[in-house]
Amino acid sequence: MSNINVKQIKETLEKEKASLINQLDALKNDKTRKGGAISADWPDQAQEVENDEVVDQLETLELNKLKDVEAALTRIENGSYGSCAVCQNEISEARIRAVPFATKCINCS
Ligand SMILES: [Zn+2]
Repeated sequence: MSNINVKQIKETLEKEKASLINQLDALKNDKTRKGGAISADWPDQAQEVENDEVVDQLETLELNKLKDVEAALTRIENGSYGSCAVCQNEISEARIRAVPFATKCINCS
């Protein structure tokens, strides 16, 4: 692999992972709290349902990102980090810097 600083990338990924876990916890707490309080009037209930949908979508996004980050960390551990999961070509340094958890090269993504 080229002169990419894997140690630095690993630190970035670990920070990202911690922050995603925090955000997911916050989202979960948000949902639990809302589940307990049912509003008396309809407009509020409708609003809550909409918010729940947004929270669910966010949760899915963050979970997917967390998976990507964890996969990247695993790849650093086993030495396969930096090569494309599809074509095995090296992922460009510019791409890795922009998206440190990328598992595919620009052509395969
Ligand atoms: Zn590729």
